[in-house]
Amino acid sequence: MKTFVKRDIWKKLMFFAAALLLMLVPVSEISAQAEKDSVDRDWMTNEEFLQKLDDIEKASSGRVKVDVAGHSSQGTEIMSARVGTGDQVLLINSSIHGNEKSGGEAIVEILDYLGTSDDSFAQSVRDNVTIVTIPRLNVDGLEIPQRQNIFPWEEVVSVYPHLAGAAQAWHYNARNRGFDINRDFHADLNYQVVPEDLPGTTLDFGFFITKEAQLLRDLYVDLQKEFGKVEAFVDLHHMGTPKLNKTGEEVTIAIDFPPLGPEDSTKYDAWPLLDQDKSKRYALAAALGVKEFSDKEEPGVSQYIHFQERDYPGQARSAFALNGSATVLFEMPGQQPQFGYDQDLVNRVENGLWGMISRMADGSIDDLNGDEFLTEVPRYWTDNITDMRDVLERFTKEGQLKNAGLSRALANDLKNLEVYEKQKNSEKMVKHLEQFKVALDKQREKELIEREAYNRLNSDANTLLERWKKK
Ligand SMILES: [Zn+2]
Repeated sequence: MKTFVKRDIWKKLMFFAAALLLMLVPVSEISAQAEKDSVDRDWMTNEEFLQKLDDIEKASSGRVKVDVAGHSSQGTEIMSARVGTGDQVLLINSSIHGNEKSGGEAIVEILDYLGTSDDSFAQSVRDNVTIVTIPRLNVDGLEIPQRQNIFPWEEVVSVYPHLAGAAQAWHYNARNRGFDINRDFHADLNYQVVPEDLPGTTLDFGFFITKEAQLLRDLYVDLQKEFGKVEAFVDLHHMGTPKLNKTGEEVTIAIDFPPLGPEDSTKYDAWPLLDQDKSKRYALAAALGVKEFSDKEEPGVSQYIHFQERDYPGQARSAFALNGSATVLFEMPGQQPQFGYDQDLVNRVENGLWGMISRMADGSIDDLNGDEFLTEVPRYWTDNITDMRDVLERFTKEGQLKNAGLSRALANDLKNLEVYEKQKNSEKMVKHLEQFKVALDKQREKELIEREAYNRLNSDANTLLERWKKK
């Protein structure tokens, strides 16, 4: 693809220039400097981040525009940055959870490149796409770091006196004295909180209680007015450290479309702009980008956990998807502060974004087949019996089942279950999943199966059992 070639050339030129520079410096100094960099480098502090944005804006000759987008619930400035003049707007948000830091680092690298490069790829992106971004939304949570913002309930009541005596919202964390901002969104962008709707649940919309959620919503609404619609929204996160079903390989980036399931749900019929297939196309573009823009193999690109019933309407990406945007979630392995700076991980976020941006720029994103996101990108979780067969096969290879005969019996059970699943025979699914669980328990009692394999297969069976009991 042309655009990738162009960016590759840019990368190679940079490499060549760097190599030339290296030749002028004695080797001992280089290795000493490299070691110093890897030890010293950490996630940017807020001060470093603000300085970096300022440097980028200054170096960009007016291409990158940095602004104070608003303030956190504690009054801290939240920055936005914008580059490009295209008709399609891509809104990128990061660090809505304060213990998830890689997104902002990747965003500044993109702003830096698009602000200063004159190559034809950068030019075509700037001409065809407008990128608007909040690289660090939860500024107060980032400082601690903690997942929630800081907004103690007594402050909530002083800001919203009509909530005095109301139940605390379910996404308020009393210990951390703040909210999970990414449960505070409502598809009705004009919604205002009323005590009757509290405390709410994970299956309801959020309340726009936090200033941070309001700020992102206001930016979204402004862009809707300016462009007619917000073409796409990306939210950048971190998660745990799972392994792929089939290969056991570590997941290095997980990507998702909006969790508004199940597919035949009538819950969102009042939101006709929802276009899940479009979100899947954008998610696929991101997955492809991670591979295409990397010098490495990238075997750990994965779908994020998304079993059919998953339903989180209060997330920003869900609320915006219901308003007609394609929305994509990135989840990077390992949260802060336990996981330190990792350049490969930041590059993966950046490359995933380039996968979408480059295809928006040349218009090819609409030619992708969204279903391929489900069929071609591997999983680390179980949505059907085929996933369970993949997992069982891997555990067998890893030696987690001690008896070949019993392991074959379990494999056979799953093979039969796969047939019933295709026939949508709920009666047989329930009966045989229950039998499968009994067989698993027997193996565990005789210590013929390791705990990890037992726990995973048992919980997978429970998930599917619950689904088929409802049908
Ligand atoms: Zn998160």
